[in-house]
Amino acid sequence: MSGQSCMRTLVETFGEKLICPFCGWEWVHPIGVSCNPSGKHGGYLFINSGGVKQVPNFPRQGRGVHIELIFYCERGHKFKYELSFHKGNTNLKRESLPAPTQWEETIWRD
Ligand SMILES: [Zn+2]
Repeated sequence: MSGQSCMRTLVETFGEKLICPFCGWEWVHPIGVSCNPSGKHGGYLFINSGGVKQVPNFPRQGRGVHIELIFYCERGHKFKYELSFHKGNTNLKRESLPAPTQWEETIWRD
């Protein structure tokens, strides 16, 4: 049994794409990925357009791995999806983030 997903998508001929959960705009950019802990011994890993940053001594958050996917909508909305693992389940949560004051770079694009 499932309820309504917090992740909004648009299904098209060539596949399914992520859309902004606040305005429905389909021009959404991935701007950050984080993982805590980043391994068995703790630490924090963050990836954005500036590269990969790892903080080995960062304390663990919660009881299982916590993964964040951060996005920026071309209409100015910023949001993240959080995946938290606990006791065999992976929970998904969406959170609005403060609007950026300037354009946020996509992690990578050609
Ligand atoms: Zn938007």
